[in-house]
Amino acid sequence: AKEAGRNSFRFFTPEMNAKAHEQMILERDLRQAIEHKEFCVHYQPVIEVTTGQVTSCEALVRWNHPQKGLTAPGYFISAAEETGLIDEIGTQVLEEVCKQIHQWKKVPEMKAVRVAVNLSPHQLRNENLVQDLQTMMTKHGVEAGQLSLEITETLVMQDPQGTAVLLDEIRKLGIKIYLDDFGTGYSSLNYLKRFSFDVLKVDRSFIMDVHENEGDAALVEAIIVMAHKLGIKVVAEGVETIEQQKFIIEQKCDLIQGFYYSKPLSAEDMYDYCRSTTA
Ligand code: C2E
Ligand code: CA
Ligand code: CA
Ligand code: CA
Repeated sequence: AKEAGRNSFRFFTPEMNAKAHEQMILERDLRQAIEHKEFCVHYQPVIEVTTGQVTSCEALVRWNHPQKGLTAPGYFISAAEETGLIDEIGTQVLEEVCKQIHQWKKVPEMKAVRVAVNLSPHQLRNENLVQDLQTMMTKHGVEAGQLSLEITETLVMQDPQGTAVLLDEIRKLGIKIYLDDFGTGYSSLNYLKRFSFDVLKVDRSFIMDVHENEGDAALVEAIIVMAHKLGIKVVAEGVETIEQQKFIIEQKCDLIQGFYYSKPLSAEDMYDYCRSTTA
């Protein structure tokens, strides 16, 4: 860059810290990753407590980075959100998931497994979202009930009225709406009723200490009772130990997701996992 002349030299002044430079490279690499379709999707099983079966899973994006190998979203999601590149990544994820659902429809152990996809706030502001979802479902023969979307409280807070209308339109396509990371945002309990979420996911930070922290245990218990009274199902996220699993089951939580059962898996490994748990 130095040989390129004064202007580009000035661009890399000491004021531009290493972090900003890193971000710039990340953004460049993300654009290339989108073009070269370097993203793939892993699936984490979600277990239904009453049957012990995998009835759904969460789709989690991975970036197959040319140098770094398979990287988790922590490395790139916030940069993708800030630059708006998340829209295109999200479209590629949805496309991949719809293709996978189509494949799994032909497999007895997999055809009833629904897939939940994370949607970023940026994607929800995209005015073509409903049309894009509809188009993609039709293209890949995805039926009502097979696809769900996970959203966080942040967006709901920004524009409650607009979000309510949008979520209703999405629901009309046969897509269920999950409220993700419940308890970590600032949402009023009133929103729970107003948006009629189908499923609520209790954030891992509440689950971590349930078996040794009375406060967390009381909160999780109360969240489950409240959700059930509103007709909302509950997923406990990030269950890692048998103590957590036992507590969650005692509280009549509907669904469990976490390393205790399985980490996120490639589509092939997900199939093996479901085959081994289907009696
Ligand atoms: P999330 O939606 O809360 O997803 C759950 C995260 O917790 C996943 O991390 C999963 O691997 C991890 N996890 C699951 N069970 C356990 C456990 O028992 N213990 C621990 N320590 N962790 C567990 P991951 O895959 O790294 O994803 C991180 C976040 O990135 C997600 O959090 C979600 O907010 C975002 N993300 C992932 N995929 C997508 C995507 O396709 N689109 C968008 N917009 N965001 C995504
Ligand atoms: Ca999620
Ligand atoms: Ca979550
Ligand atoms: Ca999260």
